[in-house]
Amino acid sequence: MIPYPTVEDASVALGRNLTWFETVWFDYSATRSNFYVYCHTILLLFLVFTLAPLPFVFVELTGWFDRFKIQPKVKYSLSDMFRCYKDVMTLFLLVVGTLQIVSYPSIQMVGIRSGLPLPSLMEIVAQIVVYFLIEDYSNYWIHRLLHCKWGYEKIHRVHHEYTSPIGFASPYAHWAEILLLGIPTFLGPAIAPGHIMTFWLWITLRQIEAIETHSGYDFPWSLTKCIPFYGGAEYHDYHHYVGGQSQSNFASVFTYCDYIYGTDKGYRIHKKLLHQQVKEEGEHKGGMKYD
Ligand SMILES: [Zn+2]
Ligand SMILES: [Zn+2]
Repeated sequence: MIPYPTVEDASVALGRNLTWFETVWFDYSATRSNFYVYCHTILLLFLVFTLAPLPFVFVELTGWFDRFKIQPKVKYSLSDMFRCYKDVMTLFLLVVGTLQIVSYPSIQMVGIRSGLPLPSLMEIVAQIVVYFLIEDYSNYWIHRLLHCKWGYEKIHRVHHEYTSPIGFASPYAHWAEILLLGIPTFLGPAIAPGHIMTFWLWITLRQIEAIETHSGYDFPWSLTKCIPFYGGAEYHDYHHYVGGQSQSNFASVFTYCDYIYGTDKGYRIHKKLLHQQVKEEGEHKGGMKYD
């Protein structure tokens, strides 16, 4: 709900004309309640979980990019991937959807706004960078905690059912893990609250990042390779490959937490051995990272 009856009133209140995007936002949200606008988060997450993994489904089914597959011996059929999607969507409706609705008071409490003016590009970028850093750090510790004996057996084991992950499996987890990992996602916006649009962009980017990280493919042209200390698909794939015993590569986005706390040693030794092996064989077997 925007507290101005017309675009002209909003312009007078802001002391300038609305931008094109602000006018669109005004037309859409002026007469709708803040709660109604916030509920779009569910629709957005549904679209991201459904659409973002689709290019990887195509890649997996055609086999055209097999040389970039991290675990090339593992292949998934369409029905395998659809089963994963169905499981994820069931949990999405039961847990994520409900969580979004009941978390509305906390959105109000921390001060995420949905009115005018819309945030500047600089504000959006700065906040999202901060959200990624906060999420990565807090997710690292929660994930590491989930690898204790009790946490793994009771909760985290479900996410590790995919020893060779696929895009659809990124949110595949026990309901308790989905709730727990909601904390790091929400912590950034709670500390540095912004506009609901920034919040939507944040959760969209975070989910796309998680889907890419679980894609099972390491594309050399991926733009994420330009991001300093970015982990990426191969980094997290190793964590799934090792499975329950994994005490390596806990971080969700970047690599520096694992480096600082010494939890990337297994991964680095493994990489070294693979490089040696490739050298000895005198040829590069594209995609053969872990087997
Ligand atoms: Zn894990
Ligand atoms: Zn994972």
